[in-house]
Amino acid sequence: AVDTAAVPPRRRRHAVEHDRRGLLFVLSSPSGAGKSTISRMLLAADESIDMSVSATTRPIRPGEVDGRDYHFVDVPEFKRMVADGEFLEWAHVFDHRYGTPRKPVEEILKGGRDVLFDIDWQGAQQLYQQAGADVVRVFILPPSMEELQRRLTARATDDAEVVENRMARAAAEISHWDGYDYVLINDDVERCFAQVRLVLRAERLKRQRQLGLIGFVRTLTR
Ligand code: 5GP
Repeated sequence: AVDTAAVPPRRRRHAVEHDRRGLLFVLSSPSGAGKSTISRMLLAADESIDMSVSATTRPIRPGEVDGRDYHFVDVPEFKRMVADGEFLEWAHVFDHRYGTPRKPVEEILKGGRDVLFDIDWQGAQQLYQQAGADVVRVFILPPSMEELQRRLTARATDDAEVVENRMARAAAEISHWDGYDYVLINDDVERCFAQVRLVLRAERLKRQRQLGLIGFVRTLTR
């Protein structure tokens, strides 16, 4: 903890703001609703949040990088990781397994930083069960199902059958919208991104996350 009384006044505000309890920031949406674009924008714009890189058994897509987008593992390796308790949460999504490695998350939080998760509703639910008040769950909706289909088709890294399948799954994913703290509509990516940042900023200001406040307020009320 920072001793706020010991730092010079000009640096005091800074110290208070950064002595903060890290949060687990979950972004969920059906695929194609713009979540990965917004994640990328957030990571580029905000120095205090790091991405949790999931492990998955699904095949790597063109343009993806192992270790950056996912840790691509086979089913036996995934099962080993489950058995050894290496996941904070894991789930079956679209016929493949996806899981959040525990250790990197703990390290990011220990460093006083926030963690960004691109995981589905099952993952959001499991994280919430484990970390409760430290979890902020944000759901991003597409402006319409027509627009979602257009985006999924334009992406074209998956074949038509996969797109069909994902449209059906999108409807199922959307049905879990009420398990989130914030629900945003991505009709304009810049506007949606601004809203995501607003949520993150406000959540960081919550009293229980500002550990430095205790000492700081003491100096004010002494
Ligand atoms: P994709 O295969 O398109 O990258 O991801 C498919 C879905 O799996 C997305 O909704 C994504 O949020 C979800 N997902 C990715 N990683 C994880 C994870 O570690 N845990 C859970 N529960 N879902 C994940």
